[in-house]
Amino acid sequence: MSLPVVAIVGRPNVGKSTLFNRLAGERISIVEDKPGITRDRIYSKSEWNGQPFHLIDTGGLEFGKQDEVVEHIRHQAELAIEEADVILFVVDGREGVTATDEEVARMLHRSNKPVVLVVNKMDHIKHHEDLYEFYRLGFDEPIGVSSLHGTGTGDMLDAVVRHFPEDVGEEYDEDTIRVALIGRPNVGKSSLVNKILGEERVIVSPVAGTTRDAVDTPFDYQGQKYVLVDTAGMRKRGKVYESTEKYSVLRALKAIERADVAIVVLDAERGIAEQDKRVAGIAHESGRGVIIAVNKWDAVEKDDKTMNRFVQEIRDQFSFLDYAPIVFISAKTGQRVQRVLPLVKEVAEQHAMRVPTSVLNEVLRDAVMVTPPPSSKGRKGSIQYGTQVSVKPPVFVLFVNDPDLIHFSYLRYLENQLREAFGFKGTPLRILLRKKK
Ligand code: GDP
Ligand code: GDP
Repeated sequence: MSLPVVAIVGRPNVGKSTLFNRLAGERISIVEDKPGITRDRIYSKSEWNGQPFHLIDTGGLEFGKQDEVVEHIRHQAELAIEEADVILFVVDGREGVTATDEEVARMLHRSNKPVVLVVNKMDHIKHHEDLYEFYRLGFDEPIGVSSLHGTGTGDMLDAVVRHFPEDVGEEYDEDTIRVALIGRPNVGKSSLVNKILGEERVIVSPVAGTTRDAVDTPFDYQGQKYVLVDTAGMRKRGKVYESTEKYSVLRALKAIERADVAIVVLDAERGIAEQDKRVAGIAHESGRGVIIAVNKWDAVEKDDKTMNRFVQEIRDQFSFLDYAPIVFISAKTGQRVQRVLPLVKEVAEQHAMRVPTSVLNEVLRDAVMVTPPPSSKGRKGSIQYGTQVSVKPPVFVLFVNDPDLIHFSYLRYLENQLREAFGFKGTPLRILLRKKK
């Protein structure tokens, strides 16, 4: 299930980012330890009473060139209305209701989305009598908070969580492969969606009436059921925020949660950009199967080395995704697009693969025999046995004499041995060490 999304909306200087920073829990750490990957300060995963959710500070989004504050806020509100499950509408308790607040309120009222009105900068108890004027904005009880001190935010979050949608449970059968296409704006995601769906023998299911189905595209191909998740935005175009770079991060986060396999789409014509790394980082951290599709291959002038150079570039820039297969395609001409779905299927199968414990231990024994764990401080690490504890992604637990003696580089070696033996194409692997008692 995808996590609820909470969007913070309001005019400048009311304290949106201060509130965001206070609520931001575990930051979305887009593979922080890798150089060159910067982090957005506008998305965070957060939690209240054990209920996780995504938080967006829409004030931090850039919507192209806009001098008009009102225009900017309108886009924030549009995005919040479209994407959020609950909107936190922040106003400034010291300044009172302004004309801009009223304008924002009107937009939010028209949306029918749940809105929690937050009156910020109520640093002292005595400020709270000033709350009454905010009833004028026409929402439920305004909640006074001080983002600076953190007071009132508990009541506010209680109100937010009450509006979260009910968990509707599993949406698709076990044997349906859920695919997310992610990438920054203009790499060709929509074109690729259309090309895939336009392929011969792709049978798109008629869309059922539920809201979830309306954002996804289920179809059959060669006897396999697939669903492209979160394709609504790609099929109807034209919203300003759709084309903003930072927005693609949210898209990716939301889509990937509901996917088995993520296709990271790159633009061969423009090469690898900073934003691509962010998207790729999300794909890696999600634990989903990952494929890298280099699109617009038709638009590149090539010789016999161009493809290899591209592969090298991708491997250098996204070293954390070294397991992801790369496919060079053109959504425009259709070149190699017919390879995409079979590759998705293959990766999905590998992602769900379970290795029998006996076979796993044979491979581990051989690996240790060829290259034993190096000694450290006169002691030798030893691996007693291992077992695969879960799939999607595969997680292995190795029982060892002392976890501190098995270093990262040795785990990399074992991971490579596992890949050599079993494949796990397109699949991240997690190896955990446990001390054998
Ligand atoms: P944004 O433009 O809506 O994101 O607003 P900021 O978070 O940047 O805050 C604008 C100003 O208000 C900053 O100087 C903050 O320090 C201040 N501010 C934010 N929250 C509070 C609060 O709860 N109390 C007080 N006194 N100041 C606050
Ligand atoms: P999205 O924002 O990632 O969904 O990208 P779009 O599918 O809207 O494509 C952005 C632009 O790239 C459009 O002008 C497309 O016509 C163009 N485009 C998409 N795929 C290809 C391709 O394979 N080759 C070429 N030459 N152009 C493409």
